[in-house]
Amino acid sequence: MLKLLYKVELGSDTEAYLVSDGTDFLFYSLDAIYIATVPPEWRLIEKLGTVERADDFERLTGRRPEVFIEDCRVCGLPALLLVEYDDGVCFDCQPEGGGEVMEYAN
Ligand SMILES: [Zn+2]
Repeated sequence: MLKLLYKVELGSDTEAYLVSDGTDFLFYSLDAIYIATVPPEWRLIEKLGTVERADDFERLTGRRPEVFIEDCRVCGLPALLLVEYDDGVCFDCQPEGGGEVMEYAN
């Protein structure tokens, strides 16, 4: 699914990135860290281009986003994927026990 990547200004003078597919808005810091809560006032500064996958985001910004909406490689539905694991498979389609579960031995 084609998305637009913008540079935006959050609040008074904090710059960030915005990815929009027309329905969902994903904000990222300039370090490409996902921002869950943004101030109500933000404005578009510059359109950077179109992105379809996390690779495109990285190509345009030089940073790889930590999470990204991509079409799952198994079910084909758009899903918020953890790019860190980079398997392109949504949570529902992860093989049993394939998710990252941190367990610490005592
Ligand atoms: Zn899936």
